[in-house]
Amino acid sequence: MADIKDIFECTQCGYCCQGETTVSLDDNDQKRMTQALGLSEAEVRDKYWRVTGNVVQMKIVDSHCIFYDEGCTVHNGRPWRCAQWPLHPSMLAVRSNFETIRESCPGINQEISYDDFCRILQELMDEQTIIHC
Ligand code: SF4
Ligand code: SF4
Repeated sequence: MADIKDIFECTQCGYCCQGETTVSLDDNDQKRMTQALGLSEAEVRDKYWRVTGNVVQMKIVDSHCIFYDEGCTVHNGRPWRCAQWPLHPSMLAVRSNFETIRESCPGINQEISYDDFCRILQELMDEQTIIHC
């Protein structure tokens, strides 16, 4: 049986939570985050979200996501794209995506071959062990 630890184990380096933008939140993300924080949507929107037209992202503080503090402080309510990272299914089809993502994420097994990585990732996706929508 495939074990996610064979291809990925987060080092909590925080790299993926840095930058001047964040992933966007869809409607389900917004509901889940609001519930996880135990606040009203208006409060969450005001305190934590950056809303531009129909696009909702998380605010940035000191060049990182507002929820980042030595790890994700909204882990159970984080957006699905955060939960999916770094095991993006595009890596199965495009080897350069795998190489680019592995370079930016030290949690990906740095020794494993591309073929073995794809085999295990595909098994995990088939078992629905990981998010891959
Ligand atoms: S929600 Fe959590 S995992 Fe996603 S960018 Fe913010 S701190 Fe990182
Ligand atoms: S870049 Fe990779 S190892 Fe670092 S916090 Fe993000 S998922 Fe974890």
